[in-house]
Amino acid sequence: MRPLSKNQNPTTYAELAGTYVVTMNKYPSMIITNMYTFFNSRNWYTVQSQKRTKAEQSDVEKKDYFVTEKLSAFYGYSRYDLIVNLDEVCSYCGMPIRDDAHVEHIKPKSYFPAFMLLWNNFLIACRDCNDRKSNKPSGGTNDTDADYIWPHTTLEDYMIRYTLSAFHQSKIDKNDKTPNVIDSLDTVFLVGLINTDAVEIKLISHGEREATLLRLDIYDDKPRNIAVTFQLFNTEAGNAVTKLFKMDRYAAYSDVSDRRMIERTHAWVQALDALNNLISVKNTTNAVRQALLDQIGDTMRATGFWSIWAEVLIAEGPSMLNQNEYDWLKAYLKGNSFAGTDLTRLYF
Ligand SMILES: [Zn+2]
Repeated sequence: MRPLSKNQNPTTYAELAGTYVVTMNKYPSMIITNMYTFFNSRNWYTVQSQKRTKAEQSDVEKKDYFVTEKLSAFYGYSRYDLIVNLDEVCSYCGMPIRDDAHVEHIKPKSYFPAFMLLWNNFLIACRDCNDRKSNKPSGGTNDTDADYIWPHTTLEDYMIRYTLSAFHQSKIDKNDKTPNVIDSLDTVFLVGLINTDAVEIKLISHGEREATLLRLDIYDDKPRNIAVTFQLFNTEAGNAVTKLFKMDRYAAYSDVSDRRMIERTHAWVQALDALNNLISVKNTTNAVRQALLDQIGDTMRATGFWSIWAEVLIAEGPSMLNQNEYDWLKAYLKGNSFAGTDLTRLYF
């Protein structure tokens, strides 16, 4: 997972809203001109319709003010700024955002309305991460900052890293979708196999009644299900991956709607292939190698999952590449690929 840096508040979303929102209850109606101050200082409640349920009505009556404007229109304006700041990839899982770009509220707006229009509480998320997190961890207003993960303030990238694993699932369990890992796979070994065409990585077909994503076929050996799973190095990371977003779910053959694990495994395979190609042009001209490196840069942009590329190329590079190629990849990863990567908090 990338540690991020964000510019300070490029647009004042709260002030945009402040022009429109009218509040009233025990006090006269008014136009809010400074929403930050208002949200933080007043006892208030939001309802999005004049028709209220009994419970909403009772909540409204306990408060000084209530707000009837639909505030989502105003945080929606941040989407463009988030994409410019953090690139077109999910701030949590790194998957490219192709269609549904969700404005992610780190502290959920249902419990922390004062953070609803606050730039520092926004990230950009894919549908899978945004849906899984919803208003978790669901201790309601008792949740503290430490219960969430803050990629732009506290995340160090060594905290959440990845490994390619072989796993086995004897049956599809609807309640527990954590892969049952049996083996972690060695990159140098795999690249060697790819190089001799002794290995094939392919999608499994519908007919095979086992929960899986991708299958690794090594000639003269048993086929294995493979997936890129997380290595976690502290509690904050564990909360993020297992509790908040359930990022280590495998997608069973019958339901591949959660794309995160399968897409990051594809990215890992692309990175292995890139490493293999770099090794095979080792003795050619600089121009050929440079052209290949440029091509790898383009592939990286297309697949997303920056941290996956870093894991494969940087962790395994020194033993398999010459110094120039390794330095170029490191510089590329650090400098040019994805907006918002905080270079000061990388492990390499
Ligand atoms: Zn995501």
